[in-house]
Amino acid sequence: MTTASPAAGISPEFIDQIRAKLARTTVGHYIDNQWTEGARGETFETLDPSTNRVLSRVWRGHAEDIDRAAKAAHAAFQKWGYGKAKDRKKYLLKIASLIEKHGDELAIIECLDAGQALKIVRAQIARTAENFSFYAEYAEKAMDGRTYPVDHEWLNYSLRVPVGPCGIITPWNAPMMLSTWRIAPALATGNTVILKPAEWSPLTAWKLAQIFEEADLPPGVFNVVQGFGEEAGAPLVTHPLVPLITLTGETTTGSIVMKAAADQLKRLSLELGGKSPAVIFADADLDRALDATVFQIYSFNGERCTANSRALIEESIFDEFTGRLAARAAKVKVGSPLDPDTEVGPLIHPEHRDRVLGYIEIGKQEGAKLLVGGKRVGSEGNYVSPALFTGENHMRIAQEEIFGPVLTAIPFKNEADALAKANDVKYGLASYLWTSDVTRAHRMALALEAGMTWINSHNVRHLPTPFGGIKFSGTHREGGEHSFEFYTELKLIAVPLGSHAIPKFGKG
Ligand code: NAD
Repeated sequence: MTTASPAAGISPEFIDQIRAKLARTTVGHYIDNQWTEGARGETFETLDPSTNRVLSRVWRGHAEDIDRAAKAAHAAFQKWGYGKAKDRKKYLLKIASLIEKHGDELAIIECLDAGQALKIVRAQIARTAENFSFYAEYAEKAMDGRTYPVDHEWLNYSLRVPVGPCGIITPWNAPMMLSTWRIAPALATGNTVILKPAEWSPLTAWKLAQIFEEADLPPGVFNVVQGFGEEAGAPLVTHPLVPLITLTGETTTGSIVMKAAADQLKRLSLELGGKSPAVIFADADLDRALDATVFQIYSFNGERCTANSRALIEESIFDEFTGRLAARAAKVKVGSPLDPDTEVGPLIHPEHRDRVLGYIEIGKQEGAKLLVGGKRVGSEGNYVSPALFTGENHMRIAQEEIFGPVLTAIPFKNEADALAKANDVKYGLASYLWTSDVTRAHRMALALEAGMTWINSHNVRHLPTPFGGIKFSGTHREGGEHSFEFYTELKLIAVPLGSHAIPKFGKG
């Protein structure tokens, strides 16, 4: 394991300053452009996953704080929602440039708080800024509609209007990137926002709120309430002034939130768990398939919704390919998130580390063969070495989302067997296909039960293209213009061009 060493281009003094600032701060809620302690005066600790020592304290939000934020967002919406698109564009572009300006600080905070490797986080900063610059360009055209001329008698037309205050609830694995790609389209289209970050990695939301403050966004347009799911998330989901909720998290949470939102028929977008397959045929470019499969399971510490956590491998190459996977997994660099060479950092929290290690034991008990890894690394923090099992698709380690650096390799006989195994899970987020047979690639891609399929590629995200899952992995698509279907209402306005006949009821 590599130990902490200065991040490339970032001085150790700068990192120490950030640590010291976090240690002396109690992170507040940001409501109506005010920093606030929270109604009940309770706090919680956020831990450094590399040591499990306290990084910072955070005010613990409850229904009263959500209520204040919802009222502020509702009041702000009356102006922001009816304001000028070019002003919204200007604010979003300003935020994008401020994210770049504060990029090093954001990166260090994300590494310290979420345990993600700097190598990964640096790319996330660029993507976070891009979320705003990309959606800024849409601000002036996102509300366009269509005209529907009805002969020469009617002119019907549609246009889009914002929905109102949006509740955005995010997970701990990539908090900055995942929150901003909801915040940006919501704001671009005239909505206001209440963000509820995950309790295990709340700190970049705090820095983000400071950036919004620096951008001088009008009060109430962007609000953050920190806290736990049941205490701050749940009242956000049921608050009557918040008509729209987007949640990224576990499938079980999605189901709870869907039930809670049902009474008020809220608009919901759920981005949930995954157990995505990489299907590798013998005729594939196996060197590239190897690079991609290793990256797509172990990057983000395996805490990645689109991870290919199942490698379905054609029987004829199974032993050779799993041998190559094991050799690569054994060499993945586990270490401090701040070390620029680190590929896998510590898992987010001791509870999650123990859950992942628990799955290693479950896999062994089920009869799967652990080829490499799956052990705690070092005596402090939540480091786990990248694990590779060979097993069968019915096993729990192949069916349940582990959300850690654990790959299960499973042999298949032929295309039909590969497809059956790929689809035989409750999830349907992503899939990855490796073959040089073009016809088979398209045939299989069509039949795979997944919201997204990459052929001969790992997950390369392109903002305009849709993102989301099917089955237990989610309910919607966001990304590009697809986000506007969620963050706006499509209105129809109908205008008669003459005196059309109106039925005359009540005239006897
Ligand atoms: P989680 O479901 O435990 O928590 C997600 C968020 O929901 C947190 O902010 C939490 O506080 C909140 N929450 C929990 N209970 C709630 C309730 N009753 N009401 C309202 N809010 C509540 O998920 P996690 O452990 O933070 O994140 C990991 C999960 O997220 C994995 O399953 C992963 O696959 C998924 N994920 C999905 C995507 C995607 O795009 N599909 C992306 C990243 C992560």
